[in-house]
Amino acid sequence: MSTGTNASNKAEQNVQQNIPQLKRRLTGFLPQEIKAIDSIIPLQSRSLWTKNKAKKIGSEEDFDEKFVNHVETTLARSLYNCDDMAAYEATSLSIRDNLVIDWNKTQQKFTARDPKRVYYLSLEFLMGRALDNALINMESPEGSTDKHANSRDMVSDSLQNLGFKLEDVLKQEPDAALGNGGLGRLAACFIDSLTTQNIPAWGYGLRYEYGIFAQKIIDGYQVETPDYWLNTGNRWEIERNEIQFPVTFYGYVDRQDGNRSTTEPSQWIGGERVIAMAYDFPVPGYKTTTVNNLRLWKAIPTTEFDFAKFNSGDYKNSVAEQQKAESITACLYPNDNFEAGKELRLKQQYFWCAASLHDILRRFKKTQRKWSEFPDQVAIQLNDTHPSLAILELQRVLVDLEGLKWDEAWDIVTKTFAYTNHTVMQEALEKWPVSLFGKLLPRHLEILYDVNWFFLQMVAKKYPNNAEILSSVSIIEEVNPERQVRMAFLAIVGSHKVNGVAELHSELIKTTIFKDFVDIFGASKFTNVTNGITPRRWLKQANPKLAQLIKDTLNDPDENYLLDMTKLTKLADYVDDKDFRNKWNDVKLQNKNTLADLMKKFNDGKDVVDREKLDDTLFDIQVKRIHEYKRQQMNIFGVIARYLDIKELLSEGKSIEEIEKVYPRKVSIFGGKSAPGYYMAKLIIKLINSVADVINNDESINGILKVFFIPDYNVSKAEIIIPASDISEHISTAGTEASGTSNMKFSMNGGLIIGTVDGANVEITREIGEDNIFLFGNLSEKVEDLRAAHRYKSDDFPESLDRVLSALESGIFSPDNSNEFKPLWDSIRYHGDYYLVSDDFESYLATQKLIDETYHYQREDWVKKSILSVANIGYFNSDRCIEDYAETIWNVEPVVPE
Ligand SMILES: *Cc1c(COP(=O)(O)O)cnc(C)c1O
Repeated sequence: MSTGTNASNKAEQNVQQNIPQLKRRLTGFLPQEIKAIDSIIPLQSRSLWTKNKAKKIGSEEDFDEKFVNHVETTLARSLYNCDDMAAYEATSLSIRDNLVIDWNKTQQKFTARDPKRVYYLSLEFLMGRALDNALINMESPEGSTDKHANSRDMVSDSLQNLGFKLEDVLKQEPDAALGNGGLGRLAACFIDSLTTQNIPAWGYGLRYEYGIFAQKIIDGYQVETPDYWLNTGNRWEIERNEIQFPVTFYGYVDRQDGNRSTTEPSQWIGGERVIAMAYDFPVPGYKTTTVNNLRLWKAIPTTEFDFAKFNSGDYKNSVAEQQKAESITACLYPNDNFEAGKELRLKQQYFWCAASLHDILRRFKKTQRKWSEFPDQVAIQLNDTHPSLAILELQRVLVDLEGLKWDEAWDIVTKTFAYTNHTVMQEALEKWPVSLFGKLLPRHLEILYDVNWFFLQMVAKKYPNNAEILSSVSIIEEVNPERQVRMAFLAIVGSHKVNGVAELHSELIKTTIFKDFVDIFGASKFTNVTNGITPRRWLKQANPKLAQLIKDTLNDPDENYLLDMTKLTKLADYVDDKDFRNKWNDVKLQNKNTLADLMKKFNDGKDVVDREKLDDTLFDIQVKRIHEYKRQQMNIFGVIARYLDIKELLSEGKSIEEIEKVYPRKVSIFGGKSAPGYYMAKLIIKLINSVADVINNDESINGILKVFFIPDYNVSKAEIIIPASDISEHISTAGTEASGTSNMKFSMNGGLIIGTVDGANVEITREIGEDNIFLFGNLSEKVEDLRAAHRYKSDDFPESLDRVLSALESGIFSPDNSNEFKPLWDSIRYHGDYYLVSDDFESYLATQKLIDETYHYQREDWVKKSILSVANIGYFNSDRCIEDYAETIWNVEPVVPE
């Protein structure tokens, strides 16, 4: 290797000198190193440490001092150049200091008690903004005699005195948008609740440089722009330079004795090697000093140097190789409910699973417990199939590195993992070509084959001479041209529990995609935990006015209802109180005004809705990822139908006043991103914008109908949009939406729902009462037959829809290209109408009519329904989910701080 030049000798010397550091980088801290660090501070010095312990903010003065200190030292600025952004940064740093103090205490306590911990593995954490949430969750200053009821008010006053407005400061924060939609936001709600419930828990994910793309709407089309959220720095993360693990890919498997079985210890000689470095995000809980940790991994190059390249003068390429490492965590894959099967994605998954597992194993090994105790100490929850590789990685570590027998190891593995399924749709089920899998992870493929072999042997014993069931449950799918790894099957076989996310969904997985596994493992392995949302963010933070009204009405000055949502049922006592109903309606009106401001901002500064008539304008909202199964197309077809009706009445000579009695004022609001490669979803966005263009500019209808697409839907926009809804749409084809969580968010904010009998809509109906929700459409049981029927007759759909499609075909919404929306009508007319728009359209329109009538002519009833929705939505808070998981799946207990 050596060419003997001076330069390379020098470089080599450098590396030699840095070996201890290199070693640490490659292994992370070993148990003996931790001990060594522990003894660094001599006993006699420790009292000095105790005396100078970091102190939490206890008063306005404390905050002022910390704030100015951070401005002047951390940010190296002064009162002469401290803008809102700097104020945001200094506030965040000050509050983060508080969190870190509690975080340290929490971790020390967990280390001392060594309770069972929960590890929530999720490729996505859609956190949104952190500061307001931290302020809300922060304990009131301990033992302080301060006049402030809570820390948020205190910081608000402080900032006011320092020359800033909290509201403006909060707006400076970019969203942490490390997720696509519901699945990622669920993970974010769960870590909030895990901490609030004082459960020792860690979230593990990836620190993407680019989160979900920012959406721009240009000429009606979605245009994706990169979300470089770290551009302005991230004041919430703690870079853990000292926590680094090597992760390898490719290479080959070495068994010195070639005859040895693959179930015996083998050596994987990896090819490519990168380092996983930890970034920590402290996660506060509500009214508790427990602070858990969200650990996100970043890929960085190894410090091992390619001397061959370097010495041959190819410095540039040796650096380029290193840079490739960072591409692993460069960006989030922007698909929601769709799997694309790209190599880099599989690499991301392994990188993340390997780093997280090594971290978990390191923590376990510090306790020097026996391996058999591992499942008593560790529960790992797989959020969808994305982390299924962790199952194989744990088996590999136990067999290859720790020397456990295969069966012993597998027993530990299956007792440790549990898997949450998020979909029954085929296109969303994760599969990997065996060849790609084996190339990237040769040893894991061997282990996978063995896992499958033992599993199929067990099945064969149970079902002798039944080849059919063997091929139907095999983790390897034998298909041409390529065999595929079925990740969901791996997750089931490697877990002790499998759960769906709403009752209907959990039943569906048992009777459809996982039916055979219920026969094999028994029904008790399959369970349900209906999703939930955190009321701290989705009620208190998003809707402070409603929270205030609830607090006053329930006479709950400490807002304990945010921890015990059953208290909300008391609101039902006030439905007949006219004064209360007026206040309730007034909150909604103010929130609609705030949303009107947002729409105005995206409408070149022109109002979309008439502010004078806000209370008479129904806000009809559908915000979520754009997907054919979610049926935004049906919503916009409904809008077109309404517009055509209005135009027809006009042409019959009816006055606008008369028409308005039939079609009262309404604005249809949309928002959501489409996957960049999802052609039909993008076309739906374009259609919505084209329809908006025609309707909003048609002066003949006098503004009684408006359509608006809000660009770049994300968590912080959701916090403005959701509290302003009168009605929101959750209208997926029955059986396709696993749960939905925005349905819960809207209900919790007093918005009514129009929905199909799908996902959590079913349970929401049960809780809030069927009189308080607008359900319509075919049931999931009928979907299969309806689809079959479409295959035989293609022209069998209602006149109302035919009229809409004909209008589209006529080109009134696409004057420059009358065929622009052809794929949308073709999919219904000629391609089997897979999402059953034609079957549900009539009942959809009829239900919309009922909604118009109720909102405009029975407003008192409407407001009662709204109050009853909030009163009975308590079940859908994520604290309940976490209690459910803790009891039925994880077997963990809270560790309550003193
Ligand atoms: C809650 C939420 C979602 C999920 O919405 P569904 O309607 O349940 O699909 C998606 N995106 C954001 C930003 C959310 O807050």
